[in-house]
Amino acid sequence: MKLKFLSIAIFSVSLFALTTSAQSRALLNRAQNVTGDTFSVSVNTPKGANVYAVSKPSAAMLKAIDKGLSDLFAVARKNNYRSRLNYSDYSIFIAKSDRTKDSQGNYSPDIAVGAAQYAGSVYDQGGFIYAAGMVIGYTPCGFVIAEHTKDLNRVSDVVRYEGEHLVLYHNDRQRYLDTADHSKGGGHPILQ
Ligand SMILES: [Zn+2]
Repeated sequence: MKLKFLSIAIFSVSLFALTTSAQSRALLNRAQNVTGDTFSVSVNTPKGANVYAVSKPSAAMLKAIDKGLSDLFAVARKNNYRSRLNYSDYSIFIAKSDRTKDSQGNYSPDIAVGAAQYAGSVYDQGGFIYAAGMVIGYTPCGFVIAEHTKDLNRVSDVVRYEGEHLVLYHNDRQRYLDTADHSKGGGHPILQ
């Protein structure tokens, strides 16, 4: 009887692992569809966040991601949010930037994504918009940012800002709904 119980336990563990990897696979597919990039590099930040990239990210880039998540978790705790405050809860996809300068000529690596609800707004570039980051999944938590070679404080900010949507989704659904769509106004930071 002991043996039978053990095999059931093993079966349920492997089923759980299968579900988790299927969700991670779906997240990766979505990131590749949105960006047109292939994320062949997979690494962890020093604090344990999952990073997928087109080419090997620098140590400074990984540190900047950790800093953004640390800032996010600190402000989330201040707001009494407790869910999804582990580095390993997050998957960050570093895509190739589709531009490196904004319309004012400032260094601003961004990704081009379909305009969707931003069509016709001030953000619309003719069917697409430039975004500093974009949430692509909630379970597991995932978002895309662009490769940076300098101004890594901007990376920390983008990580914190995209993370805000995910923290709100898991901790305060109404506030998430009220702040998710910037075409209706409002930006970042959301959490103070
Ligand atoms: Zn946002």
